[in-house]
Amino acid sequence: MSRAAAGRRVGCSIVVRGVVQGVGFRPFVWRLANELELTGVVRNTGGQVEIEVEGCQGAVEEFASRIRSEAPPRARVEEVELRRSDRSTGIGSGFSIEESQASTSAERLFPPDIATCDDCLREVFDPADRRYRYPFTNCTNCGPRATIIDELPYDRARTSMRDFRLCAACEAEYRDPANRRFHAEPIACPDCGPQLWHRRPGDPAPTATREDALRTAVADLRAGRIVAVKGLGGYHLACDATDPAAVARLRDRKRRWAKPFAVMVRDLEAARTQAEMSAEEEALLTSPARPIVLVERRRDAVPSLADGVVGAESDDPARAAALNRRVGLFLPYTPLHHLLLAAVERPIVLTSGNLADEPLATDDGEAMERLAGIADSFLGHDREIRARYDDSVTRVVDGRESLIRRSRGYAPEPLALPIATPAPLLAVGAELKHTFALARGGRAHVAPHTGDLEELLTHRAFETNLAHLRRLLDIEPAYVVHDLHPAYLSTQFAVRSFPESRRIGVQHHHAHVASAAAEAGLTGEFIGVAFDGLGMGEDGTFWGGEVLVATLASYRRVARFGRAPMPGGALAVKKPYRMALGYLLSAEAFEADGGTAGWLTPELAATFLDRLDRREVEIVRVQLARGLNAPVASSAGRLFDAAASLLGIRDVAEYEAQAAIELELIAAQGSHEPLPYEIEGHDGLLVYDPRPTLRALIEARASGIAAETLAARFQETIATVTRQLCGDVREATGLRQVALSGGVFQNQWLATTLVRRLTRDGFEVHTNERVPANDGGISYGQAAVAAARLAGAS
Ligand SMILES: [Zn+2]
Ligand SMILES: [Zn+2]
Repeated sequence: MSRAAAGRRVGCSIVVRGVVQGVGFRPFVWRLANELELTGVVRNTGGQVEIEVEGCQGAVEEFASRIRSEAPPRARVEEVELRRSDRSTGIGSGFSIEESQASTSAERLFPPDIATCDDCLREVFDPADRRYRYPFTNCTNCGPRATIIDELPYDRARTSMRDFRLCAACEAEYRDPANRRFHAEPIACPDCGPQLWHRRPGDPAPTATREDALRTAVADLRAGRIVAVKGLGGYHLACDATDPAAVARLRDRKRRWAKPFAVMVRDLEAARTQAEMSAEEEALLTSPARPIVLVERRRDAVPSLADGVVGAESDDPARAAALNRRVGLFLPYTPLHHLLLAAVERPIVLTSGNLADEPLATDDGEAMERLAGIADSFLGHDREIRARYDDSVTRVVDGRESLIRRSRGYAPEPLALPIATPAPLLAVGAELKHTFALARGGRAHVAPHTGDLEELLTHRAFETNLAHLRRLLDIEPAYVVHDLHPAYLSTQFAVRSFPESRRIGVQHHHAHVASAAAEAGLTGEFIGVAFDGLGMGEDGTFWGGEVLVATLASYRRVARFGRAPMPGGALAVKKPYRMALGYLLSAEAFEADGGTAGWLTPELAATFLDRLDRREVEIVRVQLARGLNAPVASSAGRLFDAAASLLGIRDVAEYEAQAAIELELIAAQGSHEPLPYEIEGHDGLLVYDPRPTLRALIEARASGIAAETLAARFQETIATVTRQLCGDVREATGLRQVALSGGVFQNQWLATTLVRRLTRDGFEVHTNERVPANDGGISYGQAAVAAARLAGAS
């Protein structure tokens, strides 16, 4: 029996909402309707897809359910609204696709960039295909999106592909609803699409053909040279990841001596030879977003990556191995990457095309200029990049994804706000690992990572990205949401751009815990544990080891870490030994007995001080005694830094949190006793006094106990203290929901241990998954807080 004969005929209007444009949704609907012998029409209106169908009842029902269950891989169906009528609506024969209608009324959503799909990949490596070895092959299921869009609705004429006139063959595919490339807006082929070029400085002209470009670029890589490669959201710098000299050269020229480089490997098989991966990690590695995934390296990998790839050095081989045990791997996500990796036949370093902390270069001319001293040659093309997107970085913590940098492949997909905002918002974020967010109604669009907002170039990138995303989403913010730190460039931007009545200040750690709570959809009261480097507190001191009782709208601080001065302010962040001195020689203690306040004997203090430069110690002593540039902080991140220095793990950090990261990496596995600690009531707050912990650390170190063991015991202490603080707060308030956030929770051991223990003890624990726990998640938290306040929530 054919389907058409089963059941009576009914008509139905269906509205599908979510990310349904630019992901091949209409052709999918068309194919499904034809398969089920339905008549009707599908159209894009604003940000949603509207369908009218008619057919026998069973088939219409099946159609409505398969729209959700079989949607194209990158579509995100949020809602399927069905309006049924029992009688035939008189829709003519066949099923058709209507042209896009521009509309400003509906919500605008557009998809992130999508890694090359298997169908396209097969064509690229099929000598019989007309797209054989064509580096810009794509279809409705894959290819560039967010990085090429000028305006919405998403249509070729409103992308950087508009300059490429379709050839007859591409035009036919683009117009054929049965074709995989029906309305694939960036559709291209060797005859009509973008072209590749390769150029070495001094060359009179770029290479003449695509194959020449590929061949010379591959030759450069294989010879250990550094090649700037134009990607989707910016330029990369590439070199042979197995060649120590090439990697060292890249580090020198990029002035990035310690921060790990990401490595691109040819395929999943190649990734498995380099790393030990769980099923969840493999799923992330091969996901359409193709992020960089942090994984545990295999020691016996062949080919073996150069030591300099991860970048941590130690004279002790066991220590060096521990420090280098993780690596960021990713897989090719454009045909160009696939062609390069197949020809180079080894893993390559593929790192952002910039100098040190500058933003990624996107424009060809700008890249040639800024990367001139770094790259030996350039592999580029003539498709322009409209928006800057770094690679996203992610990892798996206790079976769940935990994003570290949210950018290409993830942004700008919106995140839900548990309490919708009554007025459109711009949340400008913090400073380091900067992101901003635009929010309207129940959605927050978190922009891609822009980098550390301390540099003029990064600030310019922020303003450019903001103008671009505002235009695309058509959001005119009525309010700006900012951090309380007056010196952040983001705060200054907010003050400059909006009158006081339109500004909403949100405390840094409230924003952190709100980001985790909002991801979980919490609207009531919860316990917020915010452990990070530094954030401006309400009392003018820096915070960073805080327990809050919070809602999205408000909070009160109920516990904190003990305070210590940061001698030299920002200098104490870069030099963890200064932070250790801050704890050891803190001003109040110093005044009390001219030494270390009785909690540490001069002899014991000397076991650490004697290792440091004597003059430097004197400078810090004077700084602390006079209170000169020594802001006070109750920071968990700074305590990790101090412990790392006291243990001799790292005294000077090249990048943020390096000392704390290394402490985790070398910490011995297995279970360990906590070090001593004290928790006392102080001005209505519970205060963790870390001095007994630090004293025990110094004593044990002086008596020759390994730093590896003590690092493990230190982490155990922080976990034990946190568990106790949460228990005390639960006793006082009855709250069981806990949100953990802040950069310190990038410590995988600490996050895993706390989630498990608190859960076992009856807490419901929420951590960040889709926005970073570090300051990259602040803008989303700010938006959630401001939305709740504007909505009048308490
Ligand atoms: Zn494809
Ligand atoms: Zn063509």
